[in-house]
Amino acid sequence: MKLYSPAMINEIKKKHGIRPVKSLGQNFIIDKNIIDKIIEKSNISKGDLVIEIGPGIGALTAAAAEKAAKVIAIEIDKNLIPILEETLSEYNNIEIINNNIMKTNFGRILEQNKEINGQRMDGVKILGNLPYYITTPIIMKILEDKVAADSITVMLQKEVADRIKAEPGSKTYGALSVAVQYYCTVTHVANATKEVFVPRPKVDSTVIRLDLRKEKPFPLDDEDAFFAVVKAGFGQRRKTLLNSLTGIYGLTKDEIASIIENAGIDPARRAETLQLQEFATLANIFRTKNN
Ligand code: SAM
Repeated sequence: MKLYSPAMINEIKKKHGIRPVKSLGQNFIIDKNIIDKIIEKSNISKGDLVIEIGPGIGALTAAAAEKAAKVIAIEIDKNLIPILEETLSEYNNIEIINNNIMKTNFGRILEQNKEINGQRMDGVKILGNLPYYITTPIIMKILEDKVAADSITVMLQKEVADRIKAEPGSKTYGALSVAVQYYCTVTHVANATKEVFVPRPKVDSTVIRLDLRKEKPFPLDDEDAFFAVVKAGFGQRRKTLLNSLTGIYGLTKDEIASIIENAGIDPARRAETLQLQEFATLANIFRTKNN
């Protein structure tokens, strides 16, 4: 069944008496090329478990089920559950869960699905056309919970994708870029205009793939210190590092100046010019000072 056409969405709306819920970010994909791109770049194999965030009426879910051992689709809107059960009825490798992704225990799902039909899962691929009102919290939850997945392939608003991909020195480089790039390598997959959705959102979209690093990108003694330095640095991004970091851990300006210099960094630089590695060097010195 072709689930990605405006006609199908209209038919479902009529039959089930529903309309897309704006507050849940319900913009359904109607473009086969974008679906194919997301699936192709997710690198799903027959030995993989796929977790889909927000299946909607199932357009991506069906395409993923063709490639994977099993797809677990997590949808918050209980009105969409009977629709998904109907649209996806021809697949026997899809489990639909009615839950808020932010309250989902990924660890438990992975543990329960280590083996499917006696076959140990090779990998775990997360994907979704994300609800735009909650894009960043969803990505950060998966990363901070240290979900044992291989990759996250998602469609999200272009502006957020730009911040995630940004390099030091650019306007969009900030705490989100550093956090995501610390956990993952980031690959641009595709651009998508507003026209590939029903209803049309206000902004353009981008598909990116985040490959979770199996090892830290550099030696880091304390992640909390790293994120504290990043947060303080970008908290006041127009200020020099010396000024934005003064006060962190109760340290004086002179103490901060000596820490930054010890890290081999000019205290007059701004956070937005620092490489990830430089934040780590700073964080490691802060940590030693505090212990
Ligand atoms: N995957 C479908 C597609 O591409 O056509 C729908 C994508 S739509 C942009 C986002 C979906 O996420 C909607 O079905 C929405 O109900 C669901 N959603 C919104 N918030 C959610 C949450 N907190 N947890 C799980 N699903 C959510």
